[in-house]
Amino acid sequence: MQVDAPTQLNTLRFDNRFVGGLPADPEGENYRRQVPKACFSRVDPTQVPAPRLVAHSHEMAAELGISETEVASDDFVQVFAGNRLIEGMDPFAMCYGGHQFGNWAGQLGDGRAINLGEIVNAEGRRWMLQLKGAGPTPYSRTADGLAVLRSSVREFLCSEAMHHLGVPTTRALSLVMTGNAVVRDMFYDGHPKEEPGAIVCRVSPSFTRFGNFQIHASRGELDVLRKLVDHTIRTDFPELGNPTPDTIVEMYGEVVRRTAVMIVDWMRVGFVHGVMNTDNMSILGLTIDYGPYGWLEDYNPDWTPNTTDAGGRRYRYGHQPQIAQWNLMMLGNAFAPLLEDVAPLQQALDGFSKSCEEGWNTALARKLGFESFRRATDEELKTDLLALLPQVETDMTIFFRKLANIEKATANDADDADLLAPMIDAYYQPENLTDEYRTRFHQWMRRYLARLGEDETPDKVRRERMNAVNPRYVLRNWVAQLAIDKAEEGDFALVNELLELLRHPYDEQPGKEEYAQKRPEWARHRAGCSMLSCSS
Ligand code: AMP
Ligand code: MG
Repeated sequence: MQVDAPTQLNTLRFDNRFVGGLPADPEGENYRRQVPKACFSRVDPTQVPAPRLVAHSHEMAAELGISETEVASDDFVQVFAGNRLIEGMDPFAMCYGGHQFGNWAGQLGDGRAINLGEIVNAEGRRWMLQLKGAGPTPYSRTADGLAVLRSSVREFLCSEAMHHLGVPTTRALSLVMTGNAVVRDMFYDGHPKEEPGAIVCRVSPSFTRFGNFQIHASRGELDVLRKLVDHTIRTDFPELGNPTPDTIVEMYGEVVRRTAVMIVDWMRVGFVHGVMNTDNMSILGLTIDYGPYGWLEDYNPDWTPNTTDAGGRRYRYGHQPQIAQWNLMMLGNAFAPLLEDVAPLQQALDGFSKSCEEGWNTALARKLGFESFRRATDEELKTDLLALLPQVETDMTIFFRKLANIEKATANDADDADLLAPMIDAYYQPENLTDEYRTRFHQWMRRYLARLGEDETPDKVRRERMNAVNPRYVLRNWVAQLAIDKAEEGDFALVNELLELLRHPYDEQPGKEEYAQKRPEWARHRAGCSMLSCSS
């Protein structure tokens, strides 16, 4: 593709280390194929007829050094729709493989993601720009390389929301409608439909996945594997020093640690990724590839939003730590051929359960407002609460938010009914609470109040601390769907309103309470709210 010059965006400084330092696919034609012995293929985005900017992230634009004037320019929408390249961009798709639903799937790769290049911003931070939905690549297999508006709205809003929730994640710069119609059979049941096409510009220090290493290990391409590992250590883990067998193990240990942090954060905010295949796991421990993800509404550890996974529920909320560990084991297997002694890899992996458990205990202690997790008392309080919550439909987000309002002083003289009353909003069917449930709840609450009494923290301070880890606003599935419905009618106001709302997920934000409400009945069985598929 021709580079159009000059454009206002030309001040962006690119430093394309991935394409500069790693083996390239020698084939220049863009057709679907197996790509051996290469980490990427150069490929241009497909031209789109009528790009229109739906929304952009102000923070991400500022981080990249793109001014609001530039965002408003025609250049911006053309560049981030894939119609124009700016100087320094060198577009490419990555080669990776992966285990899908537990089975090795061979080559997958960026089938509809095209990396534009790596920016180094004014502060020296490195950001890869990537268009998702910008047309076919050599890795598109049988699919079209495109993305529809509904899934693009979901990715754009959720990745920014996760960032503001304090969950490690890839980011999003822009959401553009392309003017193309894209055909999707949403539930793979013989009902294809035209939907508006869209492109999200995702941004991350790196988009390298576990699967990038796995593909070369599986093909026995040890020289390519070594180059990719060395590149990753130098670029993504520079603090580890020069690549050696020891630094490979250290990097692996760091991936294990970061993945545990990410998983604990998912559990803390009630996020279910939905497709934790090894190609959807970031080497930096970032949440990546927002597809059929969802937020727990009623707390149910067995829930997954992904209908494609309805049978085995492999990727259900409560199973995410085990799956992450399994995925990490697969990553360890990919590094193993580079090491003479694999025992240190196993040791590093063994640290996962401990990191996860300790992280979750700390997170739960914070969610409950304790100064720290005290095993003697808190283990049982935790277990009993997590067994109590799924007994009846209890909104996880509302429950923890309401819990912050409890006052320690209620401890001794309160009636049973007074203990439940402050929490009543958290229940989907408060009128159906049985006496047995109430008794269990009262017992738990009295123990909780007694435990709060053991800490010195005054109510007000505790409330503030709890409200800093228990969000008031998450991207509830039904709220996202409202924004999608509007956007499909050409009205982008709600997408932008939610983007703004979710910049401050822990704040009350008077006037916005409707977005913090329990799932309304209309959304219970509606596609997109309680059911999603991989079709996007
Ligand atoms: P996912 O389940 O979305 O993570 O995707 C798994 C693989 O399928 C990745 O290699 C994707 O790039 C590829 N893929 C998903 N959707 C499309 C599409 N519409 N066109 C081409 N490739 C796709
Ligand atoms: Mg993926």
